[in-house]
Amino acid sequence: MSSGPSPQPTLIIGGGISGLAAAHYLGKRGEPSILIDPCSRLGGVIQTNTVSSCVLEAGPDSFLSAKPEAMELIRDLGLADEVIGSNDHQRATWIWRDGRMVPLPDGLMMMVPTRIVPTVRSSLLSWGTKFRMGMELLRGPKPGQPDRSVGEFIEDHYGAEAVTYLAEPLLSGVYGGDPYKLSVQSVLPRFVEMEAKFGSLTKGTLAGMAAVPKREGGTLFRTLKRGLGSLVEALEKASAPHCRVIREQAIALTRDADGYAVRLENETLHSRNVIVAAPAWAASSLVTSLDPQLAAALGRIDYSSSMTIGVIYDREDVPTRFKAFGFLVPKPEREHLLACTFIDQKFNDRVPEDKLLLRCFLGGAGGEGMLSLSEAELERAVLRDLDRLLGLKAKPVAFHVSRWPRSMAQYNVGHAKLLDEIDGRRRAYPGLELAGNGYRGIGIPDCIRSGKEAAELNRGR
Ligand SMILES: Cc1cc2nc3c(=O)[nH]c(=O)nc-3n(C[C@H](O)[C@H](O)[C@H](O)COP(=O)(O)OP(=O)(O)OC[C@H]3O[C@@H](n4cnc5c(N)ncnc54)[C@H](O)[C@@H]3O)c2cc1C
Repeated sequence: MSSGPSPQPTLIIGGGISGLAAAHYLGKRGEPSILIDPCSRLGGVIQTNTVSSCVLEAGPDSFLSAKPEAMELIRDLGLADEVIGSNDHQRATWIWRDGRMVPLPDGLMMMVPTRIVPTVRSSLLSWGTKFRMGMELLRGPKPGQPDRSVGEFIEDHYGAEAVTYLAEPLLSGVYGGDPYKLSVQSVLPRFVEMEAKFGSLTKGTLAGMAAVPKREGGTLFRTLKRGLGSLVEALEKASAPHCRVIREQAIALTRDADGYAVRLENETLHSRNVIVAAPAWAASSLVTSLDPQLAAALGRIDYSSSMTIGVIYDREDVPTRFKAFGFLVPKPEREHLLACTFIDQKFNDRVPEDKLLLRCFLGGAGGEGMLSLSEAELERAVLRDLDRLLGLKAKPVAFHVSRWPRSMAQYNVGHAKLLDEIDGRRRAYPGLELAGNGYRGIGIPDCIRSGKEAAELNRGR
């Protein structure tokens, strides 16, 4: 029996988690690939550093446990023993309001109140908003609504104050986005389903909680003991026998007689199968001459820029223990910081006893200018904010800046329609797949799923 010609390597453009996942799942089937990325380190925005003996994540620090794709991949790579969960028993999030930190009320599920007493007692929201939240329970089902912004949607259910002090700060930590631009259908599809079926988000959330039995021992977030960089290392190692890495930028993707040509600086690669796992704006520029309409549609997916700054103190200089996962600063109260995580509270194994690590988030929609500040300017700005918000006057022992320009996809109103348009055009190019955070989820599990699906779709060509 003839074994036939060995398959042509699939060309994967972009070596973030989406491209690495695609290479992994191709390799698992014994299929070769070539991964193209100009960066000296693979992993895209996933990067772990060790600074002053702390494990400091430069990009993402964890993934949602509820989505299975990350754990599936971690098990595949033999890293399951290294998984740690968030310390949910000490989970609290503070919101800065009117000159003080106010905890999010207990029972608040992604801006939906599910418990009356803590919501009524909380000083985060005015009586007018609490009254609206109560009345929201009386809403009837509303199926078939057009896409709206998250801001309009939440304002309709709970009023404008709930957008300012809940939706905007909560979403800016995930998307760095403007709630009046983000699409509720693409960002919070469960809310749209609840509105259609129950009318009230509170009713829908309570029904969902009753239907799903409480998970024993599960935590909201998971990560790896040595940081998410160890996932990238393991992926590189596992894929190595099947995947060659070329550290160059892909410049253009065009058709050739047999499939596609990918032009790099010094060579052109050919294959029948290409997975573009670079951000949508980069994908847009790559396909400009292949299909200008596809390029235009990809270019309409906005990205925001963000920055994380690790600020490390000697514990003896900061006697206060901050008993929360962190805090969020709503837009009207914001000077520089969008949010900050107290890493020693959120995870074990990250920060030695004699240190305190604060991970600060800056940038986001409207805050892009922060990325162009010098390190000294940033240090002045961040330390002033930490003094204002936490009363922290100590001098840090380390200040570590990571800039992520155009890194977070914004699923703006009409995103689902835009994806239909992109899929419609892309279907004209068999063997060409798109993966990455620009399309159907920006979290790590979503990106892994996108890479895996792209690898599946490449099957057998
Ligand atoms: C600061 C920050 C914090 C986050 N926190 C979390 C979190 O805690 N949990 C979570 O689940 N998600 C989080 N996210 C989101 C998540 O990490 C990202 O959406 C995901 O990692 C993106 O992976 P990706 O492979 O799609 O893209 P990227 O990581 O952006 O990788 C894209 C790759 O494409 C390469 N590339 C670009 N152009 C070209 C070209 N022309 N040729 C070749 N290569 C090219 C780039 O060099 C890059 O390596 C966070 C994101 C950021 C920025």
